[in-house]
Amino acid sequence: MANVVLLTWTYDPEKIIALSAKTCYSPGFPSDMWYQDLNEGEFISKLKNMGHMTPFEHASFTFSLEGVSRVLLAQLTRHRIASFSVQSQRYVKYESSMDNYVVPDIPNELKEDFLDSCDVIYALYNEYVNCLMQDWGYSEKEAIENARYLLPGAMKTNLTVTMNARELMHFFELRCCNRAQKEIRDLAWKMLSLLQLKFPQIFEDCGPTCLTSKCKEGKMACGKPYKKEI
Ligand SMILES: Cc1cc2nc3c(=O)[nH]c(=O)nc-3n(C[C@H](O)[C@H](O)[C@H](O)COP(=O)(O)OP(=O)(O)OC[C@H]3O[C@@H](n4cnc5c(N)ncnc54)[C@H](O)[C@@H]3O)c2cc1C
Repeated sequence: MANVVLLTWTYDPEKIIALSAKTCYSPGFPSDMWYQDLNEGEFISKLKNMGHMTPFEHASFTFSLEGVSRVLLAQLTRHRIASFSVQSQRYVKYESSMDNYVVPDIPNELKEDFLDSCDVIYALYNEYVNCLMQDWGYSEKEAIENARYLLPGAMKTNLTVTMNARELMHFFELRCCNRAQKEIRDLAWKMLSLLQLKFPQIFEDCGPTCLTSKCKEGKMACGKPYKKEI
């Protein structure tokens, strides 16, 4: 299971959201309003009800995502309004096969076999790195960046990701949904729960549409909607 750490965020995110919204409706200067009581909680829920979402773009949140698969990475980076810094398979060599793979959502009986298959691929990767360096004169970096084409999607990686609150809300709608694959779904729920603990006014009513409004999946609906805890 990936480790998810909420590293840092825009200073006073509730206030900057309220302030940027108030800028639209007030004759005053934002720099003066910053020092006033902005009644952030009420403002934030009003904005959500009105669908006035641009103020939520002023607050950003940065996570460390540790031990996610390259498969998850490909899905996560489809979310374009985010910033990513990812551990490089060009510069970082996997020094051993130990604990380097994310095992997918398969029956327990198959997991050992899956890991054995990954080990076979890892051994080939290592062989290629050595061959390219020793027999063909490649530098270590050149050898690694070429041999990595062999590596499986299960390989673990680490990244730093920053998203603004509006993008996070959209991300949670899509990726907390049961239609999303389990690894990214578990990740999205972890990120959401960390944010809900710290910033409930912004994130309390986020998640898949079955929970927040009405499922949009139509014929593709999972048939097991989340239920609100009472
Ligand atoms: C269950 C599931 C299955 C999927 N299956 C596939 C699949 O089979 N094949 C596949 O290729 N992808 C698939 N995806 C990925 C999906 O197509 C999106 O790429 C991904 O979910 C990112 O969503 P987004 O584009 O809405 O979000 P973001 O990139 O995070 O953008 C957020 C929002 O900003 C706006 N926006 C961003 N960029 C633009 C732009 N260039 N022009 C106009 N508006 C923009 C849009 O309103 C968008 O919704 C799947 C996703 C899910 C959740």
